[in-house]
Amino acid sequence: MEAKRVKKRRIVLVPVPAQGHVTPMMHLGKALYAKGFSITVVLTQYNRVSSSKDFSDFHFLTIPCSLTESDLHTLGPLKFLMKLNPICESSFKNCLSNLLEEQGNDIACVVYDEYMYFSQAAVKEFQLPSVVFSTTSATAFVCRCVLARVNAESFIKDMKDLEAQDKVFPGLHPLRYKDLPTSVFGSLESLHKMYCEVSNVRTASAVIINTASCLESSSLAWLQRELQLPVYPIGPLHIAASAPCSSLLEEDRSCIEWLDKKKPSSVVYISLGSLALMETKDMLEMAWGLSNSNQPFLWAIRPGSIPISEWTESLPEEFSKLVSERGYIVKWAPQMEVLRHPSVGAFWSHCGWNSTLESIGEGVPMICRPFTGDQRVNARYLESVWRIGVLLEGELEKETVERAVKMLIVDKEGEDMRKRAIDLKEKLEASLGSGDLSCSSLDELVNFYKYKILK
Ligand code: UDP
Repeated sequence: MEAKRVKKRRIVLVPVPAQGHVTPMMHLGKALYAKGFSITVVLTQYNRVSSSKDFSDFHFLTIPCSLTESDLHTLGPLKFLMKLNPICESSFKNCLSNLLEEQGNDIACVVYDEYMYFSQAAVKEFQLPSVVFSTTSATAFVCRCVLARVNAESFIKDMKDLEAQDKVFPGLHPLRYKDLPTSVFGSLESLHKMYCEVSNVRTASAVIINTASCLESSSLAWLQRELQLPVYPIGPLHIAASAPCSSLLEEDRSCIEWLDKKKPSSVVYISLGSLALMETKDMLEMAWGLSNSNQPFLWAIRPGSIPISEWTESLPEEFSKLVSERGYIVKWAPQMEVLRHPSVGAFWSHCGWNSTLESIGEGVPMICRPFTGDQRVNARYLESVWRIGVLLEGELEKETVERAVKMLIVDKEGEDMRKRAIDLKEKLEASLGSGDLSCSSLDELVNFYKYKILK
């Protein structure tokens, strides 16, 4: 009898060229590869993840784009993505057309980051199934859908009204106007336009979100109802896929040795992710507050995150003095390893969704200082829904910083928060382990696009 030859079907991934989006997309790629798919990653020239040996099983393609790396920095992420999308539409069509010709008609589906919506035109033209991947929380997705539906003019008027800021936004409890995902990188008008684009998922056959039902069941139920598409919570992918990290910057592992010498749960780890910027004044207030708290801290200060400075050289000498007393600075930390370290007792974060999931996954309570966009949504949830974080709002002052650090590392309140964080971590692990939540969601998705059996 003639043996059947099994040909792996291909999944094409289209990530946004930014750390917080690339990491979960590559984790997803690893998870799908493990389920038997071939993986092609379509890159723009801004993400260099293809050079990593961790992804040598993947096939990488780069689509040409006239925007430069410096445009990315001068325009900021919102305007950059708004320009990138129309520019990439035809180059992505060419790319898919070549791929179909060269590799045969083996594309099971195209999974594109919701912000790479230029992908829609090509999948429509070649009649390929597509899946929208959201690397933010389900609640942030709900916010984008709700905001896209409200009248642009009244939304802009309300968002500028200072008195409305503390009120709960209708239908989005417990989010207040000031917790909505607005952006420091662009006007409310352009943000509204962007949300109309990203929430339009009609051409897709499914939506997948890097979250778990035990974290956001009501937001997931809302999406399932309103989008009228299957919605799969397939996260947290950094746990579910257990793939190596796809860091775009070099990690400084010397901080692990430094952490090894500290007492359990005594260190505050500080990182503001890959995009957030900091004012000199805020950095000084943080340094004063941290120093006055008498607790050790590990601070990841990304090069370029302080205005007019390559790294920390523009900061006054007192900053280095305050930090060196009990702190350790790196440019980029191995964050997962740091959060897993027994010496880390709290995470001061901008509350990007990856950082939030990583902290929850390690049971580490957080000091939340959101900078922009969905970080505000996550921070509000950390404080008032999961109750594992303290949210710092308004002007940053050294006294507030000192109080927050002591509360989390020294006080009974912090101990209770740590217990809740550990409970949530265990709930999350149980949901993954039993295979009845995120894992089965991934399996369901895979069944959608099963192996093609060829004679
Ligand atoms: N990260 C890291 N080292 C650092 C700072 C951040 O590895 O020093 C990683 C972190 O683990 C997370 C990602 O960068 O996976 C940041 O993503 P997030 O969604 O939290 O924030 P964004 O960078 O998108 O604002």
